[in-house]
Amino acid sequence: EQVVVLITGCSSGIGLSLAVCLASDPAKTYKVYATMRNLVKKERLLDCVKGLHKDTLDILQMDVTDQQSIQDARHRVTEKRVDVLVCNAGVGLMGPLEAQALDTMRQILEVNVLGTISTIQAFLPGMKARGHGRILVTGSLGGLQGLPFNEVYCASKFAVEGVCESLAILLQHFNIHVSLVECGPVNTDFLDNLLTTEPGDASTQQVDEHTRRLYETYLKHCGVVFQNASQDTEDVVKIFLEAIQSASPAFRYYSNDALLPLTSPKISAVDGLQYIRTMSKIIFASDKTEQQK
Ligand code: NAD
Repeated sequence: EQVVVLITGCSSGIGLSLAVCLASDPAKTYKVYATMRNLVKKERLLDCVKGLHKDTLDILQMDVTDQQSIQDARHRVTEKRVDVLVCNAGVGLMGPLEAQALDTMRQILEVNVLGTISTIQAFLPGMKARGHGRILVTGSLGGLQGLPFNEVYCASKFAVEGVCESLAILLQHFNIHVSLVECGPVNTDFLDNLLTTEPGDASTQQVDEHTRRLYETYLKHCGVVFQNASQDTEDVVKIFLEAIQSASPAFRYYSNDALLPLTSPKISAVDGLQYIRTMSKIIFASDKTEQQK
């Protein structure tokens, strides 16, 4: 019997790579339901699997912010069960907080937080009834530590941590494993899809000059981090596979050993200031004016 896997956000990036990898398993171990908000984008996935996967891959429409669309996708799973649910859909948002429009912030929280919760809600009763299941969630270092100019994105990913950790405690009693795959920078469309406020945008121009300068320094820092430490989706997929195949999966996996969260300053100094100072130094080190302060 095939392991039925349903993945959200498969039109690009990590979701697409994971779908391709699982559907290409020579032993046909998995039946993959690769879901995406917009089916017009399915060509990229189809190109990757080269049409050879009729019995291991199905592509379904699913917008995680639309309850009906989630239910419709669930009903189209012919096996009538999902063994492994991968909540991967997510959007980023970057820029000075004062420049963010309420609707944009709402959209990020809708997709990243409520979208993840709604997807889990839809498949949880079935998993509970069968007494087994896996829920994998694409997490972020931004869900474990704050990052300047990413306040709303971090809020959304911190929220996801809270959802998963809370659920994991209960789901121990149902033989359902919850795991987060915490990613650092990954080479995907994420940066293109990310709702960025450019330093030259009108909304950013209204922000004070000091913040704007720090934002430019931050963007340069991001560029360097991406250049030095970003991973390919295949590296992240390996970690997902480890979690899927493990008999007793961990709650948290880290995709990048070279870029672990700065947990020690958080734990050793419970007043929280050590992490804040350390991160500030790391990010704004290249800004000479700041360093003189
Ligand atoms: P990506 O932009 O290529 O993929 C995100 C996918 O989510 C896209 O296919 C997009 O269409 C989809 N999506 C957006 N809104 C949706 C909705 N309402 N319903 C269904 N799908 C929707 O980027 P990615 O890097 O592959 O992102 C996947 C996950 O990885 C996200 O949760 C993201 O937060 C997380 N992540 C990415 C990075 C990175 O550097 N790329 C780092 C840490 C965490």
